[in-house]
Parts: sequence; C-alpha cells; structure tokens
Amino acid sequence: MHAKVNVVQNLQQVRKNIAAACRRVGRNPQEVGLVAVTKSVDPERMNQALAAGVDVFGESRVQELVSKQPEFPGVRWHFIGYLQRNKVKYLPGRVELVHSLNRWSLARELDRRAREHGQVFRVLVQVNITRERGRFGVMPGEVAEFIRETAGLQGLQVEGLMTMAPFVADPEQVRPLFREMRDLFTRLGREPGIRMWYLSMGMSNDYPVAVEEGANLVRVGTAIFGPRKCTLRGG
Ligand SMILES: *Cc1c(COP(=O)(O)O)cnc(C)c1O
Repeated sequence: MHAKVNVVQNLQQVRKNIAAACRRVGRNPQEVGLVAVTKSVDPERMNQALAAGVDVFGESRVQELVSKQPEFPGVRWHFIGYLQRNKVKYLPGRVELVHSLNRWSLARELDRRAREHGQVFRVLVQVNITRERGRFGVMPGEVAEFIRETAGLQGLQVEGLMTMAPFVADPEQVRPLFREMRDLFTRLGREPGIRMWYLSMGMSNDYPVAVEEGANLVRVGTAIFGPRKCTLRGG
C-alpha cells in the first residue's frame, strides 16, 4: 500500500519549483500550466489536489478516465498517454486537450470521431525528439509536414507540441532535448497556417529543466501524488 503522501505539501513544492525555474530565466510563472497526472491515483488524493487548487487532471488510459470522470464533475481533463485507435470513440466530450497525437492513423480516427459528434479535438503533436526507434512520436523533421496534412481534417485542431524525455538520473542530460523542442516550437510557430500555443514537456523528474527551456504545460504525477504501484502507459 501507499506510504502517507501529503498531496497539499507536494503541490506547494511543485509550484515553488516551477516559480523558481521561471525566475531563473525571466519567465512569468502564470504562463506555465500544471497538469496533475492522476493515472493510478485514488479519488481521495485527487480530491486533495482539487482542494489545493489543481484544475486540470491528466490521464493516460481511456478506461481509467471513463471510470473516474463521473466522480469529478466540472474538472478539466487532458489525455496524455498512448492512444489506441479503438479507444478514440470514448473520448468525444470528455477531454479538453489530447497531448499524444503520434501517428497519422490516429489523426484520421480522432478526426472521424470528432466529426461524428460535431466537435473538434484540440491536440498536440507528440515529437520523438531523441529520434530513437521504438519511441513514440513524429520525427522532428517530419512535424511540419504532418501538421500541414492535418489542416485537411476538420475534426482536428493542432495547438502545439508534446514530448517525453527519456528517464535519466540527472535531468541536465535532457536539457538539450528540451531546447531542441523549444526551437522546433518557435520555428513552426512562424509558419503560416500553423498554431503553436502549447509546449507540453516536463514530468516529475525533469519539469524544472523543461520550464527553464520554455515548457508552458508540465505533466506531473509522482511529485504530487507519490510513487505509483505500477507503470501504466497505454490505453
Ligand atoms: C505518467 C506520465 C506523466 C507523469 O509522470 P511522473 O513521472 O509521475 O510525473 C507525464 N506524461 C505522461 C505521458 C505520462 O504517461
């Protein structure tokens, strides 16, 4: 079972760390949105986070999202995990932003289900910034073309980029990857017809570095809610 976790204290610390990272690089902490990652977190701790001012939950499994949502009316939800095509049909009306658009077949399915429901999915393109095979995401050199192709999909609106850095002992090691993401984000944002509003990067292990490098959405789970019993990625 879980050791006692003080969600309120943890949140204060995370907010302090974000503010400190902003100060180091002359950013306004208001620019940085915090997505509290609630995968495998029980409702009690989620309620503690809400009471402490969290307003966006991030889930990475559709099943878990669907089963938890009725207990938390009025909360904003982001979908952040690997998304199977056959689960997309459950998402319309449930999520404000999908962080993990990582392949063309998923873009088509999101578009199809959005149009069926007369809605538009707001999405971020997940970038494989390490370019390693076996990691999810669109290759950096292919992102511009990928986004341009989504312009033909009425049910999708691309609003930025997301990445997951590899887990490393020293987060300084992933700083160059975050910097490369920021450069890509800036460059794409100058292209006509492309909107770049959100740069989603940084997790418990590395969010201060991500914020220093320009993230305006961080996805933090463990640092708020304590360690998970197991790692859940897909769904
Ligand atoms: C689990 C998860 C996170 C949060 O990870 P922590 O290390 O617990 O902060 C962020 N983003 C994605 C996509 C995740 O699956």
